[in-house]
Amino acid sequence: MPRKYIKNTEKSIQLYRSITQILFILICIWIGIEFYLFTKFIESPGSAVFVERPPGAEAFLPISALMSVYYFIQTGIIHDAHPAGFFILIAVIAVSLVFGKSFCSWICPIGTLSEYIADFGDKIQKKLFKKVYRLPRWLDYPLRSLKYLLLGFFVYSIFFTMSTIALRMFLDSPYNLVADVKMWYFFADISKTSLIVISVLFFLSIFIRNFWCRFLCPYGALLGIFSLLSPQKITRDPISCIDCALCAKACPSNIKVDKVKTVFSDECSTCMSCVDVCPVEDTLQLKSVPFKRVIPKKLIAFGVSILFLTIITVAKISNSWENNISPIEYIDLHQNIHSLGHPRSTTELDELNKKAKQMHTPKELEITND
Ligand code: SF4
Ligand code: SF4
Repeated sequence: MPRKYIKNTEKSIQLYRSITQILFILICIWIGIEFYLFTKFIESPGSAVFVERPPGAEAFLPISALMSVYYFIQTGIIHDAHPAGFFILIAVIAVSLVFGKSFCSWICPIGTLSEYIADFGDKIQKKLFKKVYRLPRWLDYPLRSLKYLLLGFFVYSIFFTMSTIALRMFLDSPYNLVADVKMWYFFADISKTSLIVISVLFFLSIFIRNFWCRFLCPYGALLGIFSLLSPQKITRDPISCIDCALCAKACPSNIKVDKVKTVFSDECSTCMSCVDVCPVEDTLQLKSVPFKRVIPKKLIAFGVSILFLTIITVAKISNSWENNISPIEYIDLHQNIHSLGHPRSTTELDELNKKAKQMHTPKELEITND
């Protein structure tokens, strides 16, 4: 005989999530347009209209931001080449510590695009095969470890091999100063090889949900680790649960929500899809585990973006958001932009640093290198 249960009448928050995702995509498009106009200006300052460089573009420089964070840990100084990147990384980590890996499913534009591509892929699979195939676990586990290997490589290269001086040299190098402009050209003037790689990733993302995010994104790996420290977890009440498995079916991260009491997974992105589909009242909830308190759905819907935007606002109000590279310095650096490579050796870093000192004179230069 089927168990009786109280129907879950709480409203889904997936609409709020979609709105938040779209808002952040629009912000990225806006930043992209401003950055495009800025590059047009530094390409031909005589004829193009001056448009300020949007600091938000530094969100796309996570390695430089990671170096800035390490530099800050070592010196207490926020390096002034890409301070916005530093604050964005801090904001993303803070969001992960409070709300789990929610950045991926609420804010990240790549996460949103991956989700749309996967939804489209699910429709195709349903049409073609009448069901959606998922990777078998024996293949899923080793592939998931790839992003941790990539993260490990970056963490090792930065935290275990770079001294404060080497960090400083890299952060001051012309390569780092114009890393955002170089990143822009990487996509605007994309090479054949990069286009092939992106097309393969796109194709794989159609048939394997969140291919990039799940298997390759080192940023997601970092946030996954921080999210494990978050006290907020999805919890299931096994007494009221009717074992319908709708939650596991709805989970984009393939987590067997219906088999555990608490979801303790680096892949849970606090998307709340499982909670929204659960048909039984108060059975699946996001809870603050140490305080045994339920986190209301709306608190997540607004909390994620409010926390993220608050940290950015603090950076702006305290005048720490914008870098101090003048448009003239950008024009100067832009002239040789295609010959500026990634500094590889200490000697090369030293040489680049000397050039950087001539062109760029941050306040804290006096404390270094001697
Ligand atoms: S467990 Fe729930 S909240 Fe976490 S990813 Fe899966 S569906 Fe989203
Ligand atoms: S959706 Fe999951 S938690 Fe809710 S009743 Fe079904 S199996 Fe249980």
